[in-house]
Amino acid sequence: MIKAFYKADTVKEILTLITLHDSKAGFLAGGTDINRLHSQSKYETVIDINTACLQEIKKTDLGLEIGACVTFERALEDSSIPAYLRKALRYAGSRTLRNMATIGGNVALQRSDSYLLPVLIAAKARLKTIDLSENGELIEDSVPIREYVEHKDMFQHTLIARICLDKPERFAASERFCKSIQAPPSIVVGFGADYSEQKKILHNVRIVIGTAPYGIYRLLKVEEAVNQGAIQTAAELEKAVSDETKAISDYTGSDKYKKYLAGTASANFFTECLAASGR
Ligand SMILES: Cc1cc2nc3c(=O)[nH]c(=O)nc-3n(C[C@H](O)[C@H](O)[C@H](O)COP(=O)(O)OP(=O)(O)OC[C@H]3O[C@@H](n4cnc5c(N)ncnc54)[C@H](O)[C@@H]3O)c2cc1C
Repeated sequence: MIKAFYKADTVKEILTLITLHDSKAGFLAGGTDINRLHSQSKYETVIDINTACLQEIKKTDLGLEIGACVTFERALEDSSIPAYLRKALRYAGSRTLRNMATIGGNVALQRSDSYLLPVLIAAKARLKTIDLSENGELIEDSVPIREYVEHKDMFQHTLIARICLDKPERFAASERFCKSIQAPPSIVVGFGADYSEQKKILHNVRIVIGTAPYGIYRLLKVEEAVNQGAIQTAAELEKAVSDETKAISDYTGSDKYKKYLAGTASANFFTECLAASGR
């Protein structure tokens, strides 16, 4: 139960407060998860970060930077947001939710049915993060989003300041399979790749799966096989993805059905990606 609420005016204040209260404190951004009925967040203290945290979307030399406290709806209103992210933002079907939910909060939560993580990992997004050193100085860092997810525990008190999309040429896409927009998904699939003109193959491929109870994970063996040219067709990819996907049967579908969805979605993205590269 939340017993204390702080409103911080600066990033330093946010991080000082979070350090003081240790694991029982959380950052309050949109509050859609923290204040949700049956939320897994068991914070006793919350620190409202909206005044101090970045709310702007700006173009940079490399691409785009999105402030962590930008809400889904605000991002959808901005024409510079790439199509793959717009699609993922719309997975949150309720406009009321989109008006409150922030992009930084979504990344930090790392739910297995995450709206945005699969496509952000596929797109090789980076996070601008801020920590507080032992002598009270702010430490800024640029962290690949896959590292943030792989080492979740290391970033418990780290503030996400911005989400950086600095690979505008890269293909990225995701699909969320559910019975209705408000229903929990069976599986979420993200796919990203670059095309090598020299080698005539897709490379730097990322295939990201989100499904309970396994969370968000990558199919590293399959990625490697595509990168090495061992997988060259959509049909080969479909089989490999289906074989490697971990899934369980539950009320959202059988394990076989989820594996099938992951395979066909990846095969479709593979074809789309080649078409987009003009092959
Ligand atoms: C009915 C309902 C259904 C939902 N379904 C889904 C779903 O299918 N998929 C999904 O992904 N989410 C779902 N959510 C959860 C939530 O709406 C989104 O994930 C949202 O984007 C979280 O952002 P927020 O700003 O509301 O986070 P908050 O609730 O404010 O915070 C959530 C967590 O993120 C941390 N945090 C927030 N901002 C930062 C930051 N800048 N840096 C570091 N940590 C931070 C907080 O400490 C906290 O642990 C659902 C919520 C509701 C109410």
